[in-house]
Amino acid sequence: MNPFLNPLIGLPFLKNYFSVPNRLTRFNKKKMQDFRDKSLRKIIRYAYNVPVYQKKYHALGIKPDDIKGINDIVKLPLITKKDIIENFPDGVIPVGYDKSKGYVASTSGSSGKPVSIYLDFPTLSTGVLLFTRNGLFYNYNIRKVKIASIGTFLEGRIDRVVDDVIMSKINLFRKSNSVLSMNAFEPIKDIIKNLNDFQPDMIYTYPIILQHIAYFKKKGYCDKINPKVLQVGGYSMDKYTRDYIEDAFECKVFNVYQSVESCGDVSIECNHHTWHINYDFYNVEAMDENNKIVGPGEKGHMVITRLFGQGTPIIRYTGMDDWVTIIPEYECECGLITPIFKNGIEGRISARVILPDGRVYPAASFELVSLVLTELKTFKVTQFQTIQKKIDELEINLVIDDEIRDLGPSVDLIFDKVRKIYKEKCGPKVKVTVKEVKEIKSPKNKPAPLVISKVKLEEGYKILESN
Ligand SMILES: [Zn+2]
Repeated sequence: MNPFLNPLIGLPFLKNYFSVPNRLTRFNKKKMQDFRDKSLRKIIRYAYNVPVYQKKYHALGIKPDDIKGINDIVKLPLITKKDIIENFPDGVIPVGYDKSKGYVASTSGSSGKPVSIYLDFPTLSTGVLLFTRNGLFYNYNIRKVKIASIGTFLEGRIDRVVDDVIMSKINLFRKSNSVLSMNAFEPIKDIIKNLNDFQPDMIYTYPIILQHIAYFKKKGYCDKINPKVLQVGGYSMDKYTRDYIEDAFECKVFNVYQSVESCGDVSIECNHHTWHINYDFYNVEAMDENNKIVGPGEKGHMVITRLFGQGTPIIRYTGMDDWVTIIPEYECECGLITPIFKNGIEGRISARVILPDGRVYPAASFELVSLVLTELKTFKVTQFQTIQKKIDELEINLVIDDEIRDLGPSVDLIFDKVRKIYKEKCGPKVKVTVKEVKEIKSPKNKPAPLVISKVKLEEGYKILESN
């Protein structure tokens, strides 16, 4: 039976279906505060029966009644990726939880061991509901829009779980055949053929996949792919990639931030390129290297609390591995007043670049190629990657579009400018090589990162200590 036909599931979903999209504008400050406080209290009561949380709360003498609302969240201990991995499966669900009603979703493990958590039907469907907010952000009818999702639809991965559990049942609320799901690692020709046949209004995928499609669009292979809006996730899109894609499709592209653990969109970029946080569904904090919460507007490591759902609760979880700068209240030109990520997602914590003089950069802020390409107003680079090979040696690889090689600024000029900008950033101690390559390979089932560092963290720490 379709679980949506069960009134205990279908009715709350339907109520949310109408109330969730505009809640950010409908609720005033007080009402939102009450809503968030109540959601947190509910989730803490639930977590108190989940061994991994229970043990930590007992050790600190914390009882559910001690947590009256979001302001008390700082009293709660942090939960790490390691905690979840070590306690899976029985320690991350309530005692007596009916596992047959849950679904296991795992992360890719791109920064260490994969994390697996339990999600259930109501939790997954609530996560999908958040997506309806996109319709308000980008002005389309969520019931009719044709969406192509190009992700990682492998067994046990969140895309696949959502697809199998929810999307196959959701046609009660949407026109059928309005969703196309594909794996990002299928041959790009097959992806393009399917997109041409499907003619999506919206495409959601990784930035690099969209850039590949944009490349073929420029070459005239995608005549029937004319979306109204594009959305990317997985990692932040740099300015060059954004411009390249927007130029090809003549359509705007926006970032979205989600994860397996969040089971929904934590943040969506609005028309004014502000990263609004869905703070009725999540509470986000940022902390420094010593696990101390940083002040508003200061950059830190993300700590997230999922304010809804069951299965494995996510409360003050530090495993998302991303740098963020949170502004707690921001009045945006789009009309929304919400907390925001000031500079979007600023890169993976595990991917960082340490220079000989001790400076440390999140990988994403070390990306300078796109600055040069934007300044030169050229689209002849189809892909690029910066590799820190040794602490004092950088290699920047560029793939050139052969058909427009001789148009606009010369390849030599581009190489020269890229070399210079990195030299200026890194100082004289670092050797910088820029070279042309035929292709940049992606790791298995994952998009290729823009910046890679092969410098071991321990080596980096040594340098930090000696400075
Ligand atoms: Zn906005």
